[in-house]
Amino acid sequence: MFTGIHDEVRPQLQGLTIDRDRPLVITDADEVLFNFMIGLEDFLKSLELYFDWSSFALTGNIRRTSDREPIEAAEVGALLADFFDQRCAVLPAVDGAAEGLASLSEHAQIVVLSNVPPKYADKRRSSLSDKGMDFPLIANVGSKGQVVRYLTEGLKAPAYFIDDIPHNHSSVNEHAAHVHRLHYIADPRLSDLLGPAEHSHSRLYNWPEISAHIIRHIETGEY
Ligand SMILES: [Mg+2]
Repeated sequence: MFTGIHDEVRPQLQGLTIDRDRPLVITDADEVLFNFMIGLEDFLKSLELYFDWSSFALTGNIRRTSDREPIEAAEVGALLADFFDQRCAVLPAVDGAAEGLASLSEHAQIVVLSNVPPKYADKRRSSLSDKGMDFPLIANVGSKGQVVRYLTEGLKAPAYFIDDIPHNHSSVNEHAAHVHRLHYIADPRLSDLLGPAEHSHSRLYNWPEISAHIIRHIETGEY
């Protein structure tokens, strides 16, 4: 049942109640509900670093302002941990995300599935609540497919997965192929760097589009 699911994630899943008869929307947070890149750029600036926007990846694109050289791959993890620690609670919300989730919540139950490190989960929960998106959060570790399979086990209604990162769509396709996968990257600069994720069903470009797409599918069974 918990195959492939990290030890820190299991108790969070056990504490969650899913209504098996109601549609389920599983949404990512960074670059879907929160403007991760806007926050990261500001954080990098405070450290005399910058993001060079040459590809959809953090590693290799974070450079020192002084000599324009990228920081080492090994430094990126620690930098991100500091970023979540200091900025997780104050990231701006994506335009239309709170309104989109509010309208979806009239048709479906909503779970936020974020790879925010579990130690910063409470900060993320208060930020979701502050921004009018007070829905249950699972702070995941690792790939998302097995968690999505667990969440949708025995569900007798359609399920939807929204995420910016292509390999998360691939993982959900591998472990929970019945889930409708919507690819969305909030930051237009980042969005321009990447085409539709190979294992997503649809690429969408804003929250009004996402909520209309899901509600139409719930009501008619068609995209
Ligand atoms: Mg994300």
